[in-house]
Amino acid sequence: MIRVCLLGATGSIGLQTIEYCFEKKDLFSIEGISFRSRKEVIEKYSIYLPNLKYVAIEDEKVALEFKKEHEEYEVISGDNCSLELVKKNAFDKVVNALVGEAGFLSSVETLKLDMDLCLANKESLVIGGEIIKDVLKKSKGKLFPIDSEHVALHKLFKHSSLEEVERVIITASGGSLRELPKEKLKYVTKEEVLNHPTWKMGNRITIDSATMVNKGFEFIEACHLFNIDIDDIEVLINDESIIHSALLYKDNSYLFEVGPSDMKVAIG
Ligand code: NDP
Ligand code: MG
Repeated sequence: MIRVCLLGATGSIGLQTIEYCFEKKDLFSIEGISFRSRKEVIEKYSIYLPNLKYVAIEDEKVALEFKKEHEEYEVISGDNCSLELVKKNAFDKVVNALVGEAGFLSSVETLKLDMDLCLANKESLVIGGEIIKDVLKKSKGKLFPIDSEHVALHKLFKHSSLEEVERVIITASGGSLRELPKEKLKYVTKEEVLNHPTWKMGNRITIDSATMVNKGFEFIEACHLFNIDIDDIEVLINDESIIHSALLYKDNSYLFEVGPSDMKVAIG
């Protein structure tokens, strides 16, 4: 049984990871989770978390209430709760689905403690890719991306080496504003920006998709993960989000990774 620690359990990637691990409950057992404050979401999902032991909650007040209501768990609280949870060193894999820079130190600690890091928190690589790569070299743990484009590249590079490749292509849907004429941009509402055409994700990444900042992050993420030069990566718009990445070979042929726009594939 693989013991899993899930950081950011109440988010979009977090909940899909809970569902995925429950579907594969003979293989995976989620034993630790962290989140900021939305305890009601975890109470709803507790049936899918039969082996849960540790619960880390950033919001101290919510943590206190949760502890009183659920004596069956060991509760950790406060700003560094995700990091403290990782430091329990009681897991085989850590899924980091926190949003923003809050995920960085937990990523580093996971690898330092020789656990596998399944990384949705791309910000860890954007802000500290060199540090993560350095720790990874000395670690017995492995690094697996949870981002559709990078999971696709991870598969494609199993069939090819960087030397055979002319260019690496990551795709983009273009986000919620892709059809909007430039002059209408300033009248756009939050609801319109959050209405992504192909993916259902957390708010922050949905906004970053509309502005294409997410694709900039993914450039950096790909460079660190696969040691690619930034000039050798290109972005291709794929409206349907079924092509996730591609390799253009030096002989002018392509290898594509194609699949549904479903993050459970990437999590798997
Ligand atoms: P969400 O906003 O849906 O979820 C964020 C999670 O992190 C929630 O569980 C939230 O808790 C928790 N959280 C936020 N800040 C803290 C903190 N300081 N301490 C503890 N917990 C915290 O995000 P997503 O699931 O969409 O994204 C997570 C990561 O995955 C991001 O880096 C994103 O770029 C990446 N990603 C997401 C994809 C997707 O399909 N959603 C696709 C590819 C990558 P609470 O709910 O209590 O606030
Ligand atoms: Mg992506």
